[in-house]
Amino acid sequence: MQKKRMFKGVITAFIAIFMLAACGAGEKGNPNGDGDKLQIVATFSILYDLMNQIGGDKVEVHSMVPLGTDPHEYEPLPEDTQKASNADLLIYNGLNLEGGEDGWFFKLVESVGQEDEVIYELMEGVEPKYIGSEDGTEREINPHAFLDPHVGMVMAENARDALIAVDPANEEYYEENANAYLEELEAIDELYKEKIAEIPEDNRILVTSERAFQYMTERYGLKEGFIWEIDTEENGSPEQIRSLVKFIEENNVVALFVESNVDPRPMETVSQETRIEIASEIYSDELGAPGSDGEIYTKLLRANIEKIHEGLAK
Ligand SMILES: [Zn+2]
Repeated sequence: MQKKRMFKGVITAFIAIFMLAACGAGEKGNPNGDGDKLQIVATFSILYDLMNQIGGDKVEVHSMVPLGTDPHEYEPLPEDTQKASNADLLIYNGLNLEGGEDGWFFKLVESVGQEDEVIYELMEGVEPKYIGSEDGTEREINPHAFLDPHVGMVMAENARDALIAVDPANEEYYEENANAYLEELEAIDELYKEKIAEIPEDNRILVTSERAFQYMTERYGLKEGFIWEIDTEENGSPEQIRSLVKFIEENNVVALFVESNVDPRPMETVSQETRIEIASEIYSDELGAPGSDGEIYTKLLRANIEKIHEGLAK
């Protein structure tokens, strides 16, 4: 008996070693990790979430720009380059977010030599809005379209189409996930309309640090005030602050907002000079930390409108 049990034990150990070896070999064959899942690289947190929501358990997504880091200007790490060169899909925002044609994302694409067929812009089909001088000489595209739930719908459709293009075997699965997600975004659009209708007309002015809400405010009929137009330029100069203070006084603004990803000090200066309170922190260029009310894109959109409503509906 004793001997037999020992023999059995040895066989079990052999099988275990054999399986470990097999797993090891598998990993070596595919440097991306799980060989069954589609390997996706997205430029920043909001796109990372969209690809996960619609790709579900068929995908493994890597987000390049970490939370707390500016997506407008980014220096990819060796890990980003390695993952990008092996990715089945490379997802970017477009509309000038990743620095545009000469920006960091296209430099990365060039360095890893990926084919056009695996590179997808989630803003494809979105009508650009412009910032910069009124006469059009120095204008540039405002990349922050994703803060408008309607644009979120276009992004979700583009995410679905990209997934189906590289993985047609799971078309039905991606369709189902996208449909559920689009329904959720329609509900969020309704929420935006309801909440803004409850704000007295004279109070419908959103003041933030960066001009990140142009698409959202124009969609839902809010006026927009800001200190600077885009993070890549000078942020919070005395002249920019003076100009916003003037705007606030002329328009009888009732509350100010500050974005979670910017330096709050310029807006604090505006608040001191105008004696208008900063009502709350809202989300713009990135998701909130895990566990926060902005940890996924749909929650972020809901959190923003709830806070804007709370600050302005008085
Ligand atoms: Zn920005």
